[in-house]
Amino acid sequence: MADLDEWLTAADRPHMERHDHESDDLTAKTNMPDHKAPISTIEGAGNLLAFNAEQLMRQYEAEQARTRSAAEWRRLEKWHIEREEFTIIDLAHRLRDFDREEYRAERKKWRRCQHRFCRNIYPVDSTNCVVPGWSKRKDSRYCTNACRVAARDAQREYERTAQIYENGTYLPVYAYRTITEDQKERNKKDSEFISENIENYAP
Ligand SMILES: [Zn+2]
Repeated sequence: MADLDEWLTAADRPHMERHDHESDDLTAKTNMPDHKAPISTIEGAGNLLAFNAEQLMRQYEAEQARTRSAAEWRRLEKWHIEREEFTIIDLAHRLRDFDREEYRAERKKWRRCQHRFCRNIYPVDSTNCVVPGWSKRKDSRYCTNACRVAARDAQREYERTAQIYENGTYLPVYAYRTITEDQKERNKKDSEFISENIENYAP
């Protein structure tokens, strides 16, 4: 660990000393993990710079989220995909030997999942030719129970963000904000919970 003093000219010293004087307060405010290196060392200054860069990034992202237009949110939402195990493209691929009429008849037996971040389709007619004998109910709306839960969460997220941003979004926070290690751990637990509760998805 090099001491910053060795790198400084005499003219820089008064400036650094002023920082030294403030460093205790600064450390208290930053709440930086492993902030053991004093601010006057290269390591300490580096830690603080990295920490401040992250803080600036988070502030920038927060400001972007706060002021983003509704149109821009909708555009970002289109790019966010949480599930796509069996899509309309997959169905078309399976039915590539069908003629137009046969394709249309089969397509009618499938429905698009209503969760906005899911691309899956699923059969609502058990005479479908991909998973014969299996279908979901005709009045079902989601491919899996996980999507039912996710759709409800997205709706809640929209209502929550509409209160704090100029325009609400259905996106989960991790899709547009930097995630801290803390949040990563919480998200992991959430997704484990969802996986345990997921219905079997046939195709
Ligand atoms: Zn789905």
